[in-house]
Amino acid sequence: MSLSVEEARRQVLGLCRRLDAERVPLLQALGRVLAVDVHSDIDIAPFDNAAMDGFAVRAADLAGAGNETPVSLEVIATIAAGSAATVSVGSGQAARIMTGAPVPAGADAVVMVEHTSHEEPEGRWVQVRRAVADGEHIRRRGEEVAVGGRVLSAGEAVGPAAVGLLAATGHAGIQVYRRPRVAVLSTGDELVEVTERPGPGRIRNSNSYTLAAQVLAAGGVPIRFPIVPDEPEAIRAAFRRAAAEADFIVASGGVSVGDFDYVKPVLESLGEMIFCEVAMRPGKSQTLGAIDGVPFFGLSGSPTAALVGFEIFVRPALRLLQGRSALDRPRAVARLAHEVTKKADRRYFLRARLTRADEDRLSVALAGSQPAAPLTAAHQGNCLLVLPEGTSRFPAGTSVEVIRLDMGEEAI
Ligand code: AMP
Ligand code: MG
Repeated sequence: MSLSVEEARRQVLGLCRRLDAERVPLLQALGRVLAVDVHSDIDIAPFDNAAMDGFAVRAADLAGAGNETPVSLEVIATIAAGSAATVSVGSGQAARIMTGAPVPAGADAVVMVEHTSHEEPEGRWVQVRRAVADGEHIRRRGEEVAVGGRVLSAGEAVGPAAVGLLAATGHAGIQVYRRPRVAVLSTGDELVEVTERPGPGRIRNSNSYTLAAQVLAAGGVPIRFPIVPDEPEAIRAAFRRAAAEADFIVASGGVSVGDFDYVKPVLESLGEMIFCEVAMRPGKSQTLGAIDGVPFFGLSGSPTAALVGFEIFVRPALRLLQGRSALDRPRAVARLAHEVTKKADRRYFLRARLTRADEDRLSVALAGSQPAAPLTAAHQGNCLLVLPEGTSRFPAGTSVEVIRLDMGEEAI
């Protein structure tokens, strides 16, 4: 019995638990999920400072200032960013101030240099042609966060701005969830390494690299195993080692019903097999199991099926292991650029290319020549065209759903 895609996915995710946390240096937190709330060790801003280059003034002195009625103030100091403000601005006085410099005592606003002009003798007096509100162009101490306040929360993903917040709040390192170590195994007597020229009947082991790249793209750490021949003992040994070393096992090949497809019996003898068929295409033969508590996902060896199966089942599982809550890529509705026919019984996930037909309409067409050039088609595509079970013919112009591979799960 084939499982529905939803049920299969539910079961895959059901086997996965968020991994433990580790402390990493600040920059390595990029793209990871915070395991702790982050608090600031200082006020930010740490002191009242100028948001503009100009003059620190007392707003009351400039009441009524305008182009026709400029107000002259005595300039008593120049305060650069990085200096400590030691002067005090009294009534009728101003201090030249640079962006980021501390606002001196007595001043309660900054007037932009653009609204001022100098009076002779050069630099001693300034004419201001604009009134200012109390507090104008001053960034207040503690305005962004007060000392001890929370700037980031556990469960949030760390982007470049969060890295900046960690730095601003004194965190040289931080606790994030561990990246899953993912064993990538390719089984098949026909496979040769990338450095070899395939002899008669042999092909290069491309899946190992495609899948390792997908693991990396999903935030995991791939452990590529040597090619595993179609022999039960060799498969058993590789699976055992994988379960000992990895948080998740991805295998390709040998999950079908061919004479030399030993993955399922070996999985059953070492651990448990949970399902082995999903009502989808490509990738009808896909196997979920566990060995010593480590989730195992067996993809069909066909490069397209492996790629799609990983995207639908393995990628969300790896995200869950990393503590991510968004597990689904955004979907969109597009109009089919041409007719597509399929078997009615299964759901199809076809590599396709989404383009913008006009301002508010997307168009989708199959990418490349799918059975003949699977990796080229996948490379040229930017989405998966989802065609539901129950229908076999989709005429040109039909509204269809696509999964946007060009967008991350956190997009809306
Ligand atoms: P299997 O799932 O073992 O029946 O393999 C299905 C198809 O995928 C066959 O044409 C295999 O030659 C091909 N294949 C299997 N493993 C790989 C691999 N690691 N890289 C590229 N193609 C593969
Ligand atoms: Mg095979």
